[in-house]
Amino acid sequence: MKFSEYKYQRPDYEYEKKVFSDNMEKLKKAESFESFRKILDDINKQRNRIESMKIVASINYSINTGDKNNIAEKNYWDENAPKYDKLNVDLYKIIIDSKYDKEIIETYGMQFYNIIKCSISEISDEIITDLIEENRLCSEYTRLLAAGNVVFGGEKLNLSEVNKYTTDSNRNIRKSAAEAFSGYFEEHEEEFDILFDKLVKVRDRIAKKLGYENFVELGYKRMKRTDYNENDVSKLRKAVENSWDIIIDKINKNKSERLSIEKIKYYDDEVEFPGWNMEPEIEYDEMIKSAEKMYSELSDETGMFFRNLVENEMMDLKTAPRKGMGGYCTYVPDLKSPFVFANFNRSFDDVDTLTHEMGHGFQLYMSNWIDMPEINFPTLDSCEIHSMTMEFITMPWMELFFGKNASKYKYSHLCTISRLIPYCMVVDEFQHIIYRNINMTPNDRKKLWRNLEKKYIKYKDYDDNSFLDRGGWWLRQGHIFKNPFYYIDYALASLCAIQLAEKYTENHHEGWNLYMDICKVGGTRSFNEIVNIANLDSPFEDESISKIVRKISQSLDVKIANEK
Ligand SMILES: [Zn+2]
Repeated sequence: MKFSEYKYQRPDYEYEKKVFSDNMEKLKKAESFESFRKILDDINKQRNRIESMKIVASINYSINTGDKNNIAEKNYWDENAPKYDKLNVDLYKIIIDSKYDKEIIETYGMQFYNIIKCSISEISDEIITDLIEENRLCSEYTRLLAAGNVVFGGEKLNLSEVNKYTTDSNRNIRKSAAEAFSGYFEEHEEEFDILFDKLVKVRDRIAKKLGYENFVELGYKRMKRTDYNENDVSKLRKAVENSWDIIIDKINKNKSERLSIEKIKYYDDEVEFPGWNMEPEIEYDEMIKSAEKMYSELSDETGMFFRNLVENEMMDLKTAPRKGMGGYCTYVPDLKSPFVFANFNRSFDDVDTLTHEMGHGFQLYMSNWIDMPEINFPTLDSCEIHSMTMEFITMPWMELFFGKNASKYKYSHLCTISRLIPYCMVVDEFQHIIYRNINMTPNDRKKLWRNLEKKYIKYKDYDDNSFLDRGGWWLRQGHIFKNPFYYIDYALASLCAIQLAEKYTENHHEGWNLYMDICKVGGTRSFNEIVNIANLDSPFEDESISKIVRKISQSLDVKIANEK
Protein backbone atom coordinates (compact mmCIF):
# COMPACT_ATOMS: atom_id res chain seq x y z
CA MET A 1 0.00 0.00 0.00
CA LYS A 2 1.17 3.52 -0.78
CA PHE A 3 1.62 5.94 2.09
CA SER A 4 -0.95 8.33 0.59
CA GLU A 5 -3.57 5.54 0.46
CA TYR A 6 -3.21 4.68 4.12
CA LYS A 7 -6.02 6.39 5.93
CA TYR A 8 -5.23 8.19 9.17
CA GLN A 9 -7.92 8.02 11.79
CA ARG A 10 -7.51 9.41 15.26
CA PRO A 11 -8.27 6.62 17.77
CA ASP A 12 -10.90 7.20 20.42
CA TYR A 13 -9.11 6.63 23.71
CA GLU A 14 -12.16 5.58 25.74
CA TYR A 15 -13.16 3.03 23.12
CA GLU A 16 -9.60 1.71 22.72
CA LYS A 17 -9.17 1.47 26.48
CA LYS A 18 -12.35 -0.58 26.80
CA VAL A 19 -11.28 -3.06 24.11
CA PHE A 20 -7.76 -3.20 25.55
CA SER A 21 -8.98 -3.74 29.11
CA ASP A 22 -11.47 -6.45 28.09
CA ASN A 23 -8.71 -8.30 26.31
CA MET A 24 -6.38 -7.90 29.28
CA GLU A 25 -9.05 -9.46 31.53
CA LYS A 26 -9.27 -12.39 29.11
CA LEU A 27 -5.51 -12.65 29.10
CA LYS A 28 -5.41 -12.99 32.90
CA LYS A 29 -7.89 -15.87 32.70
CA ALA A 30 -6.35 -17.69 29.74
CA GLU A 31 -6.37 -21.39 30.46
CA SER A 32 -3.64 -22.42 28.10
CA PHE A 33 -0.67 -20.73 26.52
CA GLU A 34 -2.33 -21.37 23.16
CA SER A 35 -5.26 -19.13 24.08
CA PHE A 36 -2.97 -16.66 25.90
CA ARG A 37 -1.07 -16.24 22.66
CA LYS A 38 -4.21 -15.77 20.57
CA ILE A 39 -5.46 -13.01 22.84
CA LEU A 40 -2.05 -11.37 22.83
CA ASP A 41 -2.11 -11.47 19.01
CA ASP A 42 -5.40 -9.57 19.09
CA ILE A 43 -3.98 -7.06 21.54
CA ASN A 44 -0.93 -6.61 19.31
CA LYS A 45 -3.15 -5.95 16.28
CA GLN A 46 -4.83 -3.20 18.23
CA ARG A 47 -1.51 -1.84 19.58
CA ASN A 48 0.05 -1.86 16.11
CA ARG A 49 -2.93 0.02 14.69
CA ILE A 50 -2.73 2.66 17.44
CA GLU A 51 1.06 2.91 17.07
CA SER A 52 0.71 3.28 13.28
CA MET A 53 -1.71 6.17 13.73
CA LYS A 54 0.63 7.86 16.17
CA ILE A 55 3.58 7.47 13.78
CA VAL A 56 1.60 8.66 10.74
CA ALA A 57 0.49 11.75 12.68
CA SER A 58 4.09 12.55 13.54
CA ILE A 59 5.29 11.94 9.95
CA ASN A 60 2.54 14.21 8.59
CA TYR A 61 3.49 16.89 11.06
CA SER A 62 7.17 16.82 10.12
CA ILE A 63 6.28 16.97 6.40
CA ASN A 64 4.21 20.10 6.92
CA THR A 65 4.51 21.73 10.33
CA GLY A 66 2.25 24.58 9.25
CA ASP A 67 -0.84 22.50 8.40
CA LYS A 68 -3.74 23.01 10.84
CA ASN A 69 -4.83 19.34 10.84
CA ASN A 70 -1.27 18.14 11.32
CA ILE A 71 -0.82 20.46 14.29
CA ALA A 72 -4.11 19.31 15.82
CA GLU A 73 -3.14 15.64 15.52
CA LYS A 74 0.35 16.28 16.89
CA ASN A 75 -1.20 18.01 19.90
CA TYR A 76 -3.59 15.09 20.39
CA TRP A 77 -0.69 12.64 20.60
CA ASP A 78 1.49 14.88 22.79
CA GLU A 79 -1.33 14.89 25.27
CA ASN A 80 -2.64 11.35 24.95
CA ALA A 81 0.38 9.18 24.19
CA PRO A 82 1.18 8.80 27.93
CA LYS A 83 -2.30 7.34 28.49
CA TYR A 84 -1.73 4.72 25.81
CA ASP A 85 1.73 4.06 27.29
CA LYS A 86 0.12 3.42 30.63
CA LEU A 87 -2.10 0.72 29.03
CA ASN A 88 1.05 -0.93 27.70
CA VAL A 89 2.61 -1.01 31.16
CA ASP A 90 -0.58 -2.64 32.53
CA LEU A 91 -0.18 -5.26 29.82
CA TYR A 92 3.50 -5.83 30.73
CA LYS A 93 2.51 -6.50 34.32
CA ILE A 94 0.01 -9.15 33.27
CA ILE A 95 2.61 -10.78 31.03
CA ILE A 96 5.23 -10.82 33.81
CA ASP A 97 2.74 -12.13 36.39
CA SER A 98 1.35 -14.85 34.14
CA LYS A 99 2.14 -18.49 34.75
CA TYR A 100 3.36 -18.89 31.17
CA ASP A 101 6.71 -17.12 31.60
CA LYS A 102 8.62 -20.08 30.20
CA GLU A 103 6.47 -20.23 27.05
CA ILE A 104 6.51 -16.43 26.67
CA ILE A 105 10.31 -16.40 26.74
CA GLU A 106 10.42 -19.33 24.30
CA THR A 107 8.03 -17.60 21.89
CA TYR A 108 9.00 -13.92 22.10
CA GLY A 109 12.55 -14.18 23.42
CA MET A 110 14.40 -13.28 26.60
CA GLN A 111 15.11 -9.78 25.31
CA PHE A 112 11.40 -8.98 25.03
CA TYR A 113 10.85 -10.28 28.56
CA ASN A 114 13.76 -8.23 29.95
CA ILE A 115 12.68 -5.07 28.13
CA ILE A 116 9.17 -5.13 29.54
CA LYS A 117 10.61 -5.80 33.00
CA CYS A 118 12.76 -2.65 32.59
CA SER A 119 9.70 -0.66 31.52
CA ILE A 120 7.77 -1.71 34.61
CA SER A 121 10.63 -0.76 36.93
CA GLU A 122 10.80 2.76 35.44
CA ILE A 123 7.32 3.78 36.37
CA SER A 124 4.92 4.03 39.30
CA ASP A 125 1.93 6.20 40.18
CA GLU A 126 3.96 8.23 42.71
CA ILE A 127 6.26 9.65 40.03
CA ILE A 128 3.70 10.77 37.44
CA THR A 129 3.84 14.46 38.42
CA ASP A 130 7.66 14.30 38.48
CA LEU A 131 7.67 12.80 34.99
CA ILE A 132 5.45 15.58 33.73
CA GLU A 133 7.85 18.07 35.32
CA GLU A 134 10.82 16.33 33.67
CA ASN A 135 9.11 16.51 30.25
CA ARG A 136 8.27 20.15 30.77
CA LEU A 137 11.91 20.96 31.59
CA CYS A 138 13.11 19.06 28.50
CA SER A 139 10.69 21.03 26.32
CA GLU A 140 12.01 24.19 27.94
CA TYR A 141 15.52 23.24 26.75
CA THR A 142 14.21 22.65 23.20
CA ARG A 143 12.46 26.00 23.32
CA LEU A 144 15.61 27.79 24.50
CA LEU A 145 17.57 26.34 21.58
CA ALA A 146 14.86 27.00 18.99
CA ALA A 147 14.62 30.60 20.15
CA GLY A 148 18.39 30.96 19.81
CA ASN A 149 19.31 33.91 17.62
CA VAL A 150 22.70 35.47 17.13
CA VAL A 151 23.94 38.30 15.01
CA PHE A 152 26.55 37.06 12.55
CA GLY A 153 28.03 38.96 9.63
CA GLY A 154 25.51 41.72 10.26
CA GLU A 155 22.60 39.30 9.95
CA LYS A 156 20.31 37.77 12.57
CA LEU A 157 20.65 33.99 12.26
CA ASN A 158 19.26 31.04 14.19
CA LEU A 159 21.65 28.54 15.78
CA SER A 160 21.55 25.99 12.98
CA GLU A 161 22.16 28.71 10.39
CA VAL A 162 25.20 30.05 12.20
CA ASN A 163 26.41 26.51 12.85
CA LYS A 164 26.84 26.02 9.09
CA TYR A 165 29.58 28.66 9.09
CA THR A 166 31.54 26.86 11.83
CA THR A 167 32.91 24.52 9.13
CA ASP A 168 33.68 27.27 6.63
CA SER A 169 36.95 26.80 4.80
CA ASN A 170 37.93 30.37 5.72
CA ARG A 171 39.46 30.15 9.20
CA ASN A 172 38.43 33.65 10.29
CA ILE A 173 34.82 33.03 9.32
CA ARG A 174 34.62 29.71 11.17
CA LYS A 175 36.28 31.22 14.23
CA SER A 176 33.77 34.05 14.47
CA ALA A 177 30.88 31.65 13.76
CA ALA A 178 32.07 29.37 16.57
CA GLU A 179 32.29 32.40 18.88
CA ALA A 180 28.81 33.58 17.90
CA PHE A 181 27.43 30.09 18.52
CA SER A 182 28.99 29.67 21.95
CA GLY A 183 28.16 33.32 22.69
CA TYR A 184 24.47 32.41 22.75
CA PHE A 185 25.09 29.85 25.49
CA GLU A 186 27.24 32.23 27.47
CA GLU A 187 24.57 34.89 27.25
CA HIS A 188 21.94 32.45 28.55
CA GLU A 189 24.30 30.57 30.85
CA GLU A 190 22.29 31.10 34.00
CA GLU A 191 19.04 29.93 32.40
CA PHE A 192 20.70 26.74 31.14
CA ASP A 193 22.35 26.16 34.53
CA ILE A 194 19.09 26.53 36.45
CA LEU A 195 17.26 24.30 33.99
CA PHE A 196 19.89 21.57 34.25
CA ASP A 197 19.98 21.77 38.03
CA LYS A 198 16.21 21.22 38.13
CA LEU A 199 16.50 18.28 35.73
CA VAL A 200 19.19 16.60 37.85
CA LYS A 201 17.09 17.03 40.97
CA VAL A 202 13.81 15.85 39.52
CA ARG A 203 15.53 12.75 38.09
CA ASP A 204 17.16 12.04 41.43
CA ARG A 205 13.76 12.36 43.14
CA ILE A 206 12.15 10.00 40.62
CA ALA A 207 14.93 7.44 41.13
CA LYS A 208 14.65 7.59 44.93
CA LYS A 209 10.85 7.27 44.88
CA LEU A 210 11.28 4.14 42.76
CA GLY A 211 13.73 2.74 45.34
CA TYR A 212 17.03 3.35 43.54
CA GLU A 213 20.02 4.83 45.34
CA ASN A 214 20.42 7.52 42.63
CA PHE A 215 19.52 8.13 39.01
CA VAL A 216 22.42 6.16 37.48
CA GLU A 217 20.84 2.72 37.70
CA LEU A 218 17.46 4.04 36.55
CA GLY A 219 19.19 5.77 33.63
CA TYR A 220 20.51 2.37 32.50
CA LYS A 221 17.02 0.88 32.88
CA ARG A 222 15.52 3.64 30.75
CA MET A 223 18.02 2.79 28.02
CA LYS A 224 16.86 -0.87 28.35
CA ARG A 225 20.37 -2.11 28.98
CA THR A 226 19.80 -5.71 29.86
CA ASP A 227 23.20 -7.33 29.55
CA TYR A 228 25.95 -4.92 30.57
CA ASN A 229 26.44 -2.53 33.43
CA GLU A 230 28.30 0.47 34.71
CA ASN A 231 31.51 -1.50 35.28
CA ASP A 232 31.61 -2.64 31.67
CA VAL A 233 31.13 0.91 30.48
CA SER A 234 33.80 2.22 32.81
CA LYS A 235 36.23 -0.40 31.44
CA LEU A 236 35.50 0.85 27.95
CA ARG A 237 36.21 4.44 28.98
CA LYS A 238 39.53 3.39 30.51
CA ALA A 239 40.54 1.53 27.34
CA VAL A 240 39.73 4.56 25.17
CA GLU A 241 41.59 6.86 27.56
CA ASN A 242 44.67 4.66 27.30
CA SER A 243 44.77 4.06 23.58
CA TRP A 244 42.84 6.55 21.46
CA ASP A 245 45.31 9.47 21.40
CA ILE A 246 47.37 7.91 18.65
CA ILE A 247 44.46 8.18 16.20
CA ILE A 248 43.63 11.76 17.10
CA ASP A 249 47.29 12.78 16.91
CA LYS A 250 47.54 11.33 13.42
CA ILE A 251 44.42 13.16 12.25
CA ASN A 252 45.61 16.42 13.76
CA LYS A 253 49.14 16.18 12.45
CA ASN A 254 47.78 15.78 8.92
CA LYS A 255 45.30 18.54 9.38
CA SER A 256 48.04 20.94 10.51
CA GLU A 257 50.05 20.19 7.41
CA ARG A 258 47.14 20.28 4.99
CA LEU A 259 45.61 23.46 6.32
CA SER A 260 48.99 25.03 7.19
CA ILE A 261 47.91 25.57 10.78
CA GLU A 262 50.50 25.49 13.51
CA LYS A 263 48.21 24.79 16.45
CA ILE A 264 44.76 23.27 15.99
CA LYS A 265 42.03 25.21 17.75
CA TYR A 266 38.50 24.16 18.61
CA TYR A 267 37.10 25.80 15.48
CA ASP A 268 39.37 23.70 13.23
CA ASP A 269 37.93 20.39 14.39
CA GLU A 270 35.43 19.69 11.62
CA VAL A 271 37.56 20.89 8.71
CA GLU A 272 39.99 18.51 7.02
CA PHE A 273 40.59 19.94 3.54
CA PRO A 274 41.26 23.49 2.43
CA GLY A 275 38.75 24.97 0.02
CA TRP A 276 36.25 22.09 0.11
CA ASN A 277 32.78 22.73 1.53
CA MET A 278 31.69 19.07 1.79
CA GLU A 279 28.72 19.43 -0.59
CA PRO A 280 27.45 16.69 -2.92
CA GLU A 281 27.83 17.58 -6.58
CA ILE A 282 24.41 16.54 -7.85
CA GLU A 283 20.81 17.74 -7.52
CA TYR A 284 17.95 15.96 -5.78
CA ASP A 285 16.57 13.80 -8.63
CA GLU A 286 20.02 12.61 -9.54
CA MET A 287 20.73 11.78 -5.89
CA ILE A 288 17.72 9.49 -5.75
CA LYS A 289 18.75 7.83 -9.01
CA SER A 290 22.27 7.37 -7.67
CA ALA A 291 20.92 5.89 -4.44
CA GLU A 292 18.83 3.42 -6.42
CA LYS A 293 21.85 2.40 -8.46
CA MET A 294 23.94 2.07 -5.30
CA TYR A 295 21.42 -0.12 -3.48
CA SER A 296 20.73 -2.28 -6.53
CA GLU A 297 24.43 -2.95 -6.95
CA LEU A 298 25.03 -3.55 -3.24
CA SER A 299 22.63 -6.54 -3.02
CA ASP A 300 19.30 -7.86 -4.29
CA GLU A 301 17.71 -7.20 -0.91
CA THR A 302 18.83 -3.59 -0.62
CA GLY A 303 17.76 -2.98 -4.22
CA MET A 304 14.29 -4.33 -3.50
CA PHE A 305 14.12 -2.43 -0.22
CA PHE A 306 14.94 0.91 -1.84
CA ARG A 307 12.57 0.43 -4.79
CA ASN A 308 9.82 -0.48 -2.33
CA LEU A 309 10.34 2.73 -0.40
CA VAL A 310 10.16 4.78 -3.59
CA GLU A 311 7.13 2.96 -5.03
CA ASN A 312 5.16 3.03 -1.78
CA GLU A 313 6.06 6.66 -1.04
CA MET A 314 7.66 5.58 2.22
CA MET A 315 10.23 8.34 2.08
CA ASP A 316 10.04 12.09 1.96
CA LEU A 317 13.43 13.68 1.45
CA LYS A 318 13.03 16.75 -0.70
CA THR A 319 13.08 20.13 0.98
CA ALA A 320 9.80 22.05 1.16
CA PRO A 321 8.47 25.11 2.95
CA ARG A 322 7.41 24.43 6.54
CA LYS A 323 9.04 21.03 6.53
CA GLY A 324 10.65 19.94 9.80
CA MET A 325 14.42 19.87 10.24
CA GLY A 326 16.77 16.90 10.41
CA GLY A 327 16.43 13.32 9.26
CA TYR A 328 14.98 10.21 10.83
CA CYS A 329 13.74 6.70 10.14
CA THR A 330 10.61 5.37 11.77
CA TYR A 331 8.40 2.30 11.36
CA VAL A 332 4.70 2.00 10.48
CA PRO A 333 3.71 -1.42 11.86
CA ASP A 334 0.44 -1.72 9.89
CA LEU A 335 2.30 -1.17 6.63
CA LYS A 336 5.17 -3.37 7.82
CA SER A 337 7.48 -0.75 6.40
CA PRO A 338 10.00 1.85 7.53
CA PHE A 339 9.53 5.49 6.62
CA VAL A 340 12.56 7.71 5.98
CA PHE A 341 12.35 11.46 6.39
CA ALA A 342 14.82 14.24 5.56
CA ASN A 343 14.98 17.84 4.49
CA PHE A 344 17.67 17.86 1.80
CA ASN A 345 19.67 21.06 1.62
CA ARG A 346 22.53 19.92 -0.58
CA SER A 347 24.94 19.24 2.25
CA PHE A 348 26.79 16.06 3.15
CA ASP A 349 23.92 15.39 5.60
CA ASP A 350 21.80 14.50 2.57
CA VAL A 351 24.16 11.67 1.71
CA ASP A 352 24.27 10.74 5.37
CA THR A 353 20.48 10.26 5.30
CA LEU A 354 20.79 8.09 2.22
CA THR A 355 23.23 5.80 4.00
CA HIS A 356 22.66 6.16 7.77
CA GLU A 357 18.84 6.40 7.90
CA MET A 358 18.52 3.83 5.10
CA GLY A 359 20.61 1.50 7.28
CA HIS A 360 17.96 1.78 9.99
CA GLY A 361 15.32 1.36 7.31
CA PHE A 362 16.91 -1.76 5.89
CA GLN A 363 17.05 -3.38 9.34
CA LEU A 364 13.33 -2.66 9.86
CA TYR A 365 12.54 -3.98 6.39
CA MET A 366 14.43 -7.23 7.02
CA SER A 367 12.81 -7.74 10.43
CA ASN A 368 9.25 -6.80 9.50
CA TRP A 369 8.20 -10.34 10.46
CA ILE A 370 8.14 -9.11 14.08
CA ASP A 371 4.65 -8.25 15.28
CA MET A 372 5.58 -7.31 18.84
CA PRO A 373 6.02 -3.51 18.81
CA GLU A 374 8.58 -3.50 21.64
CA ILE A 375 11.11 -5.38 19.52
CA ASN A 376 10.83 -3.94 16.01
CA PHE A 377 13.85 -1.75 16.73
CA PRO A 378 16.76 -3.07 18.79
CA THR A 379 17.97 -0.97 21.73
CA LEU A 380 19.83 2.17 20.62
CA ASP A 381 23.34 0.76 21.21
CA SER A 382 22.55 -2.00 18.67
CA CYS A 383 20.32 0.09 16.43
CA GLU A 384 23.13 2.38 15.41
CA ILE A 385 25.29 -0.59 14.34
CA HIS A 386 22.99 -1.17 11.37
CA SER A 387 22.93 2.47 10.35
CA MET A 388 26.63 3.20 10.83
CA THR A 389 27.72 -0.01 9.13
CA MET A 390 25.62 0.98 6.13
CA GLU A 391 27.49 4.31 6.04
CA PHE A 392 30.76 2.38 5.71
CA ILE A 393 29.74 -0.32 3.27
CA THR A 394 28.26 2.19 0.81
CA MET A 395 31.59 4.07 0.63
CA PRO A 396 32.56 2.51 -2.73
CA TRP A 397 29.60 4.38 -4.30
CA MET A 398 30.45 7.83 -2.93
CA GLU A 399 31.89 8.93 -6.30
CA LEU A 400 28.26 9.00 -7.49
CA PHE A 401 27.55 11.80 -5.03
CA PHE A 402 30.83 13.61 -4.48
CA GLY A 403 32.60 13.04 -7.81
CA LYS A 404 36.33 13.66 -7.54
CA ASN A 405 35.94 14.76 -3.92
CA ALA A 406 34.74 11.32 -2.82
CA SER A 407 38.07 10.42 -1.22
CA LYS A 408 37.91 13.63 0.82
CA TYR A 409 34.45 12.67 2.01
CA LYS A 410 35.63 9.16 2.98
CA TYR A 411 38.58 10.52 4.93
CA SER A 412 36.48 13.17 6.69
CA HIS A 413 33.88 10.53 7.60
CA LEU A 414 36.51 8.37 9.32
CA CYS A 415 37.87 11.42 11.16
CA THR A 416 34.41 12.37 12.41
CA ILE A 417 33.79 8.92 13.86
CA SER A 418 37.29 8.83 15.36
CA ARG A 419 36.69 12.12 17.17
CA LEU A 420 33.25 11.03 18.32
CA ILE A 421 34.57 8.15 20.45
CA PRO A 422 36.57 10.14 23.05
CA TYR A 423 33.86 12.81 23.12
CA CYS A 424 31.32 10.11 24.04
CA MET A 425 33.57 9.18 26.97
CA VAL A 426 33.53 12.75 28.26
CA VAL A 427 29.72 12.94 28.10
CA ASP A 428 29.32 9.54 29.71
CA GLU A 429 31.69 9.99 32.65
CA PHE A 430 30.30 13.49 33.21
CA GLN A 431 26.77 12.13 33.66
CA HIS A 432 27.83 9.36 36.03
CA ILE A 433 29.50 11.90 38.33
CA ILE A 434 26.69 14.48 38.04
CA TYR A 435 23.94 12.06 39.06
CA ARG A 436 26.00 10.70 41.96
CA ASN A 437 26.68 14.23 43.27
CA ILE A 438 23.48 16.09 42.72
CA ASN A 439 24.47 19.07 44.84
CA MET A 440 27.36 20.20 42.67
CA THR A 441 27.14 23.89 41.76
CA PRO A 442 26.97 25.02 38.13
CA ASN A 443 30.63 26.03 38.37
CA ASP A 444 31.64 22.65 39.81
CA ARG A 445 29.88 21.01 36.88
CA LYS A 446 31.69 23.14 34.33
CA LYS A 447 35.05 22.51 36.01
CA LEU A 448 34.32 18.79 35.94
CA TRP A 449 33.47 18.95 32.22
CA ARG A 450 36.68 20.78 31.36
CA ASN A 451 38.76 18.33 33.39
CA LEU A 452 37.17 15.40 31.58
CA GLU A 453 37.94 17.04 28.25
CA LYS A 454 41.56 17.29 29.38
CA LYS A 455 41.47 13.59 30.20
CA TYR A 456 39.98 12.26 26.95
CA ILE A 457 40.49 15.05 24.37
CA LYS A 458 43.89 16.39 25.39
CA TYR A 459 44.47 18.55 22.33
CA LYS A 460 41.29 20.59 22.75
CA ASP A 461 42.34 24.24 22.68
CA TYR A 462 39.67 26.89 23.21
CA ASP A 463 41.95 29.70 22.12
CA ASP A 464 40.71 32.96 23.66
CA ASN A 465 37.17 31.70 24.32
CA SER A 466 37.07 31.92 28.11
CA PHE A 467 33.50 30.59 28.39
CA LEU A 468 34.40 27.30 26.69
CA ASP A 469 37.71 27.18 28.52
CA ARG A 470 35.92 27.17 31.85
CA GLY A 471 33.74 24.24 30.72
CA GLY A 472 30.74 25.69 28.92
CA TRP A 473 30.71 23.39 25.87
CA TRP A 474 28.18 20.83 27.11
CA LEU A 475 25.29 23.29 27.39
CA ARG A 476 24.79 22.70 23.64
CA GLN A 477 24.69 18.90 24.00
CA GLY A 478 20.95 18.18 24.01
CA HIS A 479 21.35 14.56 25.11
CA ILE A 480 22.82 15.69 28.44
CA PHE A 481 19.62 17.59 29.14
CA LYS A 482 17.03 15.40 27.45
CA ASN A 483 18.36 11.84 27.10
CA PRO A 484 20.71 11.04 29.98
CA PHE A 485 23.08 8.09 29.48
CA TYR A 486 22.21 7.82 25.77
CA TYR A 487 25.52 9.09 24.46
CA ILE A 488 27.73 6.05 25.11
CA ASP A 489 25.50 4.12 22.69
CA TYR A 490 27.05 6.03 19.79
CA ALA A 491 30.49 4.84 20.87
CA LEU A 492 29.35 1.24 21.35
CA ALA A 493 27.70 1.18 17.93
CA SER A 494 30.61 2.90 16.17
CA LEU A 495 33.11 0.47 17.64
CA CYS A 496 31.00 -2.38 16.26
CA ALA A 497 30.26 -0.76 12.90
CA ILE A 498 33.99 -0.18 12.30
CA GLN A 499 34.65 -3.89 12.85
CA LEU A 500 31.75 -5.08 10.71
CA ALA A 501 32.74 -2.74 7.90
CA GLU A 502 36.26 -4.16 8.10
CA LYS A 503 34.87 -7.69 7.74
CA TYR A 504 32.89 -6.55 4.72
CA THR A 505 35.97 -5.02 3.13
CA GLU A 506 38.00 -8.19 3.70
CA ASN A 507 35.31 -10.49 2.37
CA HIS A 508 32.16 -8.97 0.84
CA HIS A 509 30.17 -12.18 0.91
CA GLU A 510 30.88 -13.12 4.53
CA GLY A 511 30.63 -9.54 5.78
CA TRP A 512 27.32 -9.02 4.02
CA ASN A 513 25.86 -12.21 5.46
CA LEU A 514 26.78 -11.15 8.98
CA TYR A 515 25.16 -7.77 8.37
CA MET A 516 22.00 -9.46 7.07
CA ASP A 517 21.92 -11.73 10.10
CA ILE A 518 21.80 -8.84 12.55
CA CYS A 519 19.23 -6.99 10.43
CA LYS A 520 16.92 -9.99 10.43
CA VAL A 521 16.86 -10.43 14.22
CA GLY A 522 15.60 -6.85 14.67
CA GLY A 523 15.12 -6.11 18.33
CA THR A 524 14.70 -9.69 19.49
CA ARG A 525 18.28 -9.80 20.84
CA SER A 526 20.30 -7.81 23.33
CA PHE A 527 23.40 -5.76 22.49
CA ASN A 528 25.94 -8.44 23.44
CA GLU A 529 23.97 -11.07 21.55
CA ILE A 530 23.95 -8.92 18.42
CA VAL A 531 27.71 -8.40 18.80
CA ASN A 532 28.07 -12.20 18.91
CA ILE A 533 25.79 -12.83 15.93
CA ALA A 534 27.91 -10.45 13.86
CA ASN A 535 31.02 -12.21 15.13
CA LEU A 536 32.50 -8.98 16.50
CA ASP A 537 34.86 -8.39 19.42
CA SER A 538 33.07 -6.95 22.43
CA PRO A 539 33.78 -3.23 22.93
CA PHE A 540 33.97 -3.98 26.63
CA GLU A 541 37.29 -5.83 26.23
CA ASP A 542 40.58 -3.88 26.35
CA GLU A 543 42.02 -5.95 23.56
CA SER A 544 39.17 -5.17 21.17
CA ILE A 545 39.83 -1.48 21.59
CA SER A 546 43.55 -1.81 20.86
CA LYS A 547 42.70 -3.88 17.77
CA ILE A 548 40.26 -1.23 16.54
CA VAL A 549 42.81 1.52 17.20
CA ARG A 550 45.35 -0.36 15.06
CA LYS A 551 42.81 -0.78 12.24
CA ILE A 552 41.71 2.86 12.17
CA SER A 553 45.30 3.95 12.33
CA GLN A 554 46.22 1.78 9.33
CA SER A 555 43.19 2.91 7.44
CA LEU A 556 44.10 6.58 8.02
CA ASP A 557 47.66 5.87 6.81
CA VAL A 558 46.35 4.33 3.58
CA LYS A 559 43.98 7.22 2.94
CA ILE A 560 46.67 9.78 3.68
CA ALA A 561 49.21 7.98 1.43
CA ASN A 562 46.63 7.93 -1.42
CA GLU A 563 46.26 11.67 -1.14
CA LYS A 564 49.95 12.23 -1.76
ZN1 LIG B 1 20.77 6.52 13.73
